[in-house]
Amino acid sequence: MSLFRQTLLFLSQRKELEEFFKHNPLAQQARSRFVAGDTRAEALEVTRKLNAEGFSVTLDYLGEEVIDPDQAREASEEYAGAVEEAAAAGLNTGISVKLSHLGVRIDEQLAFSNLMNVVERAARVDRFVRVDMEGSDLTDVTLKLVSRVRQSTPNIGTVIQSYLRRSDADIASLNREKIPVRLVKGAYLEPEEIAFQNEEEVVLYYMRLTEALIHSGTRPAFATHDTKLIEFVIDLADIFGLKKTDFEFQMLYGISNELQKNLIADGYRVRVYLPYGDDWYGYFMRRLAERPANLWFLLRHWKK
Ligand SMILES: Cc1cc2nc3c(=O)[nH]c(=O)nc-3n(C[C@H](O)[C@H](O)[C@H](O)COP(=O)(O)OP(=O)(O)OC[C@H]3O[C@@H](n4cnc5c(N)ncnc54)[C@H](O)[C@@H]3O)c2cc1C
Repeated sequence: MSLFRQTLLFLSQRKELEEFFKHNPLAQQARSRFVAGDTRAEALEVTRKLNAEGFSVTLDYLGEEVIDPDQAREASEEYAGAVEEAAAAGLNTGISVKLSHLGVRIDEQLAFSNLMNVVERAARVDRFVRVDMEGSDLTDVTLKLVSRVRQSTPNIGTVIQSYLRRSDADIASLNREKIPVRLVKGAYLEPEEIAFQNEEEVVLYYMRLTEALIHSGTRPAFATHDTKLIEFVIDLADIFGLKKTDFEFQMLYGISNELQKNLIADGYRVRVYLPYGDDWYGYFMRRLAERPANLWFLLRHWKK
């Protein structure tokens, strides 16, 4: 992993810089590329447009690392309310949640109840809940709570990161439990002992994990903008006789728009991950870390 990326991921955890960024007009403008808006209404409006273009959506109410139980309950209500309102409006969207937003740093049982609230209310309107994967200190608890919820409600899935060396074992057990997986490379700062640091290794492992998921029968989601991985998934799915509807691609709002449209035009399913809310700092910094050009663009305009 480059020093540049490590630095930005480190800064993404610094509260001091958060205040500076959040009040800077240029950063606010730049974040609008990746975030639908501050409000649920804005997110639903963008969802409507994306649905009309053939995309399904997963909404993400931005927020993480909550340490106040009331804030965690408020997040749970917002996630559940958003999915209910979207379903009532006939929109094709599920929801992606983060356990650190639902209070797992405060208390595991609190996060479980908050997650259950979202999953049960989403189930009533026939919608799917994806639990995002955060830093590796939350991997075990995320898998544990997802598995616990899955015992009573099937509309839940989670995410596996191909930079983590443990991921093939995790996919094997998720496959056994028939829990749908979204496969990503991974967006956090992780030490060498547990995570590949070299991009080639992350890509090769992603390919190996793709093979494990292709046979899962759980409609896996391949979340990447990396064209070589997308081609690999398409070829492998073809070799094993999967239909285009047996899996989906997922991409982030505002990234690789042409690629997203081309896949839809070729008959593949593409789901857009659509964040909204005013707590956008951590998400925004991870997007900057993924691509140096994003930061250079910001700095160039900063001077003017
Ligand atoms: C739908 C979705 C959900 C995700 N959920 C999680 C999660 O729960 N946990 C987690 O750890 N990570 C998650 N991620 C992030 C993921 O781990 C990667 O950090 C991110 O997808 C970048 O990797 P890539 O596979 O697109 O490949 P890269 O090699 O990083 O990117 C390939 C190409 O995509 C374009 N691109 C990628 N990122 C950007 C960017 N920020 N700005 C502009 N262009 C870009 C560039 O053209 C780049 O060359 C998610 C990603 C997606 C798409």
